[in-house]
Amino acid sequence: MFNKLLAGITAGLMLLCTLSFNAQAAGYTQTRYPIVLVHGLFGFDSIAGIPYFYDIPDGLASGGARVFLAQVSATNSNEVRGEQLLSQVRQVLAITGATRVNLIGHSQGGLTARYVAAVRPDLVASVTSVGTPHKGSRVADLVRNVLPPGSVSESVARDVIQGVADLIDEISGGNLPQNPLAALDALTTPGTRTFNTRYPAGLPTTACGSGAARVNNVAYYSWGGIANYTNFYDVSDAILGATGLVFGDEDNDGLVGRCSNHLGTIIYDDYFQNHLDEVDQVFGLVSPFTSNPVTLFRAQANRLRNAGY
Ligand code: CA
Repeated sequence: MFNKLLAGITAGLMLLCTLSFNAQAAGYTQTRYPIVLVHGLFGFDSIAGIPYFYDIPDGLASGGARVFLAQVSATNSNEVRGEQLLSQVRQVLAITGATRVNLIGHSQGGLTARYVAAVRPDLVASVTSVGTPHKGSRVADLVRNVLPPGSVSESVARDVIQGVADLIDEISGGNLPQNPLAALDALTTPGTRTFNTRYPAGLPTTACGSGAARVNNVAYYSWGGIANYTNFYDVSDAILGATGLVFGDEDNDGLVGRCSNHLGTIIYDDYFQNHLDEVDQVFGLVSPFTSNPVTLFRAQANRLRNAGY
């Protein structure tokens, strides 16, 4: 009798678990408006079938989201990249018949998304930034100091980076204009200060606080990481570990300081992720011990869905 009762309860619990899992799988990430993922500096939509956001687009789509990968200049100003993104947003709206989009931008992609939300808030339901240097990057500041405007070192560096950017653009089929120095100036502390004066929506008003949750009917969210070394097998950790030294005592993800990643509603500003972990790179090599980036993007899609976006 007891065994039968136990078996019945177990079967009931299993059915309940299956039902709740199915309910989650079916519409967990099914946002009302399409999601547009916006890459950062040196980024691309996909190369040889591998997205900049690696497993994240599939993770979002598997729960019902309509996901689009923007491709803007790998190196350029926030405004030039923003205009490119705006024209792609219009294409997404035309393809899907939707009236607005949810923009999720990584690194400089967050600044790019903010530009679009500022100039066309009617087309944007939400902006989510991930590891974005809203108040600049100390690494960009350092590079700018090493390469003063008009110097020989600046022109040599510009030519080298232009070559890299052109290569990324060519193999990812972008055919977009590149401007490495405009990109660098867009990511320095003075550069972001100028940008923020023009486009302040969602920015914290204090040094390390949160920003307005909604501005002009656009919802703003952010998250970021504060780790440098997270996965023994990822060679990029050594690079981010070196750049992270520039920050001294300040928490950072290798390229962006903790307080600089704040925008709108702060979901979490100190995940155990470095700058590339935030987009599930390289090739999914992230810390196995903390929240997976794919899980975080899916949770954000669910948050947007529940908020009616
Ligand atoms: Ca990694």
